Parts: sequence; structure tokens; C-alpha cells
Amino acid sequence: MIKHLYRTLTWPESKQRAEQGAVIVIPIAAIEQHGYHLPIDVDNVLVEHVTEEAASRSDGLILTAPMIHYGFNEHNMGFPGTISIRETVFMDFVYDVAYSFVRQGFDRIVLINGHGSNQMLCNLVARRVVNTTKAFCAAAAHWWLAKAEVDKLRDSAFPGGMAHACEFETAMCMHIRPELVELDKLGDREAPSSRNEFIFDDLFGSGPVHFVDRWSCISESGVEGDPNLATPEKGKAFSECSIANLIRFCRLFRDMKVQPDRDYNYRNPSL
Ligand SMILES: [Zn+2]
Repeated sequence: MIKHLYRTLTWPESKQRAEQGAVIVIPIAAIEQHGYHLPIDVDNVLVEHVTEEAASRSDGLILTAPMIHYGFNEHNMGFPGTISIRETVFMDFVYDVAYSFVRQGFDRIVLINGHGSNQMLCNLVARRVVNTTKAFCAAAAHWWLAKAEVDKLRDSAFPGGMAHACEFETAMCMHIRPELVELDKLGDREAPSSRNEFIFDDLFGSGPVHFVDRWSCISESGVEGDPNLATPEKGKAFSECSIANLIRFCRLFRDMKVQPDRDYNYRNPSL
């Protein structure tokens, strides 16, 4: 069987896969509080499952890189267990990982994120790779790839019902690693992440104004949403949808043509 995990390759195999045009998927998430019922590693567990399963089913198209376990998390430092990387350090680190792949000959890089606050930084990293190399680099959160199934199965109110350690994340974990979900500690629905008509937060759409408070100011348990609505069946549907869409996207991304640059700038001959 063709290898699908980057860390299992030898160096000649890495060169060969770059020549064959493999798409590099880099999973990125966080160590972060997830209420009383989920472990602090859950973002990593979910994104690693989606990206590694996608690679294993992609017939060699996707190589999944070792994941980046820590993320930008200052807003959650009031909760024990959380680790935070400064935003500029995080961006430079992720860029250096992605740029190393480009230097080794890979020209399609996909950052798949499993922690909300990383997303804007991953987007900027993807743009920095595109701006500084000839490679393509794109970024997405794994839950966006599950949107078709979420729209069908979601029981949480919108917005705010799916935000953190919520119906979505709890369902995914029930499917992928059920032994990690402490069902007796689920607790009540907590802290709808809606402050007013302009400021609200949900995995599937936020308000027009960006404002993120310190999490401990708005949630007692750390949860935002209702984990009681989660089921393993929903988790399986979400997970399978993400995996299938990641493979589909990588195929399309592989085939996207690099357009020739235009540069209309006046060239000062003295420079
Ligand atoms: Zn999470």
C-alpha cells in the first residue's frame, strides 16, 4: 500500500512523492480546555483523524504531515490545561513548516485547522506562502468541510449553539474516540456565544464584528453550545463528510493551474 503519512517516508521516497505531485496536508490544532467532558487534546484528535483518514483513502494523492499540536490560545489561559503560542510565533512556525515542504519540491500545501482562533492566522500563513513562492497554499477548518451534513443534522440553535466543546466537537469525539468523552460530566447547555446583534460566534458563521473576549468571562465550564445534543451517529456523518470533501478539494487543488504573473510596474533602469 502506498504510504500516506509523511513521517513514515525515507528521504528518497519524499523526493519521489514531491516529483509525483503529492498534496501536503498539515493538520494544526491546539491543547486547550474543552469543558468538563472532553480532554484538552480533543482538537488534535479530531483534525488528525480527518486528515490521516483522507490521506489513507486518497490513493497517494495526499500526504499528511505530522501535526502541529499547539495553537494561539491566549483567551483560554484562565482555564488550566491550556497552552498558548503567541500569534506571531505561531505564524512564523507554521510558515517555516509549509515553506520547508515547498523547498523540498512540493507545490500544493493545505493547512487543515482544528482550533477556531488559529484560523485567521492559518489564512495569513497560506497567503504568505503564495506571496513568497510559486507554490499554492490554502487553509480551512475541518468543520467547514462537514457543513453539508451539519446543515442536515444540526439540532443546536444558530448562532452560538456550535462553538466550543459543543454538539459538533462532542459528536465527532463520540465517533472517533468514544472512550475520551466523559458522558457523566456533560452538564447543561452553556454560554450562547452571542453578545449582541453584531457580536456572535459559531463554528458555521460569526457576526459582522470581530470581538473575542477572554473565555472565562463568558463561560463557567469552558463550553459554548450544547454537548447534550451530540450523538456518535452525527459524529460519523460529520467526520465522513469532512474526509470526503478534503479528498475532493485536494484533487481540485492539484489540478488548479498556475497562471503566469503580470507585472505592469515601471522599471527604473537605475535600480
Ligand atoms: Zn475544540
